[in-house]
Amino acid sequence: MHNAAYAELGLDRRYLAFRVAPENLRTALRAIPALGIRGINLTVPHKIAAARIIPHLSREAGLLGAVNCVVSRGGRLFGDNTDARGLERDLRRIGGALAEQRVIVIGAGGAAASAVLAAIRVRAVEITIVNRTASRGHALKRRFSELLRTIAIDARDLDALQDRDLLRDAACVINATSMGLTTRDFAPLDYAATPRDCFFYDLLYAPKLTAFLSPAARARRPYSDGAGMLVAQGELAFRLFNGVAPPPGVMRRALNLKLGRDS
Ligand code: NAP
Repeated sequence: MHNAAYAELGLDRRYLAFRVAPENLRTALRAIPALGIRGINLTVPHKIAAARIIPHLSREAGLLGAVNCVVSRGGRLFGDNTDARGLERDLRRIGGALAEQRVIVIGAGGAAASAVLAAIRVRAVEITIVNRTASRGHALKRRFSELLRTIAIDARDLDALQDRDLLRDAACVINATSMGLTTRDFAPLDYAATPRDCFFYDLLYAPKLTAFLSPAARARRPYSDGAGMLVAQGELAFRLFNGVAPPPGVMRRALNLKLGRDS
């Protein structure tokens, strides 16, 4: 996506992938200014650890406790997070009318924090965080405690995905876990208990339907994978790295090509 935008703009820059082990994260980050790298994105499992290492965080990265992009300026590193803004853009694009509605967010890591913030920004008023490790779900809820006067947030374990009373009210269910990334399995979820227009959004993206979305499609519920969010967060990061926006549509076309989808 980034390289397609560089080619279109005629910029002699490259976006490269580096595999970094968790124990080397600090060293890798420290090397960025020394190597003359303008900026980096971080992905699983580094986002939360990086927020504890990078000295200067944007307000949003601080609130989320996770960093997905780092910009190097004058020898100093600045951490930001474009995931929530990326998901918010995509939720608006797909027209999910979530104002005054209940949203269920599955997960409690960095991506789930972004999903909660995006849900707040599209004016959801009830948010249920569902996570395998209950304590992490409660910790995520506390992160948003300042906002709790206007929004009802609760944290539940995975059994909630079969709670018909909860599901009956859901306008949107967002998968922000890595469940289904390595296997086709997903925790049992009673899709049929959701309203017919309940929107299923998976942050994962793949050429085929994900383990979370396949049953949603079978139950004839509207759905989307996270390709749109990936493009939107990437466009925002491109602007932070380069000071210019990528040409419209270029990053989306590059991703669609990679995923074998029509542009
Ligand atoms: P993370 O911090 O490592 O969190 C992982 C989450 O998945 C935790 O809530 C964890 O639950 C849960 N989980 C993992 N395996 C599970 C299993 N077998 N059963 C139940 N729960 C399981 O990761 P993250 O940074 O939040 O990212 C999560 C996913 O979002 C990744 O797959 C990433 O690729 C995707 N993502 C996509 C975009 C995009 O642009 N589309 C952007 C950001 C992230 P516990 O707390 O119980 O361990």
